[in-house]
This record gives sequence, structure tokens and C-alpha cells, in this order.
Amino acid sequence: MKLESTRSPILPPPRLQKKYEVIIESEQCDGCKICVDFCPKELLEVSEETNSRMLHYVVITAPNDCLGCKQCERLCPTTSIFIKEINLEDDAINESKA
Ligand code: SF4
Ligand code: SF4
Repeated sequence: MKLESTRSPILPPPRLQKKYEVIIESEQCDGCKICVDFCPKELLEVSEETNSRMLHYVVITAPNDCLGCKQCERLCPTTSIFIKEINLEDDAINESKA
């Protein structure tokens, strides 16, 4: 006879949620548009503003929609774009400790 446990967890199992922050070094960006062409979500575009070298740099249009695929970071020839991974659970834990 197989015994079935009647116990159930008090809390639901933790879900690992992540968010991604896109960091663009506008002074370093040449506006080559490689990242614009390869972003699968089409989140990047060349700004009308220019940097101190008179080059149109890239900006992100919908920062919360980033997938974190890092295509932009890998392909940028001037290392001007970075993806920072934010663990939302860690944020929640840190906020509860504050
Ligand atoms: S690939 Fe790099 S240098 Fe080119 S537009 Fe994007 S951020 Fe700027
Ligand atoms: S990480 Fe991926 S989805 Fe996010 S901006 Fe870069 S290419 Fe686009």
C-alpha cells in the first residue's frame, strides 16, 4: 500500500524572477545600429540627440521589455551597451530587511 503525504507546503515554492537593465554608454556609442538591427524585441533606436562627438547614440524605447538575451552586448563593436541582471526575489528580500 502506498502512503500519500497529506502535508502541503505553507508557502508556494519560490519563483525565480529576473529583470534586465540596459545600460548604454552614450559617449562611447558610435550609432552604428548593429544592436538596433539585432535586438529581437526591437527595443533600441538611434536617438535624435548627439553625444560630444556629434554622433547619434542609441537609446532604449521600452526598458521593461528587455529579454536579457545580450545580443546587443555581444555584438557592440565599441562595448557601449551592457545588460545588468536583477533578481527580483533578492530585491524583495532586501526590501523586507530594510
Ligand atoms: S552596437 Fe554599440 S556602438 Fe553600435 S549603435 Fe549599438 S551601442 Fe552604439
Ligand atoms: S538584451 Fe536582447 S532584448 Fe534586451 S536590448 Fe539587448 S538585444 Fe534587445
